[in-house]
Amino acid sequence: MSAVGHPATVPDLHDTSRCPLGVRCECCGIERDDLAVVTSDLGSVGVACLTMCPSCASSTVSPPVAVGTAVRLVLQHAAHVGVAGLDANEILSGTCPTTGTPTAVSV
Ligand SMILES: [Zn+2]
Ligand SMILES: [Zn+2]
Repeated sequence: MSAVGHPATVPDLHDTSRCPLGVRCECCGIERDDLAVVTSDLGSVGVACLTMCPSCASSTVSPPVAVGTAVRLVLQHAAHVGVAGLDANEILSGTCPTTGTPTAVSV
């Protein structure tokens, strides 16, 4: 894979090699042993990964996910592909991701 003009520093949002495989299809809920992780573009939220059965993965219908769930899925998948700055845990930890110094936290 040598895409010309594609900077190596930009993670591939559709790379599912590090995404954990779920036990059931997140679209129809079926449990089977030939599920696969696929990426899904959740509109303005971003790209998320979902565990799907072959029939759902081949369909063009988007999985029924609420906005709150979509945000969580996108953040999780961002961590899978190594997108810095989108990790919710890092944002909530109170540490500035740029300088590494603690931000002002009033407890
Ligand atoms: Zn399914
Ligand atoms: Zn993922």
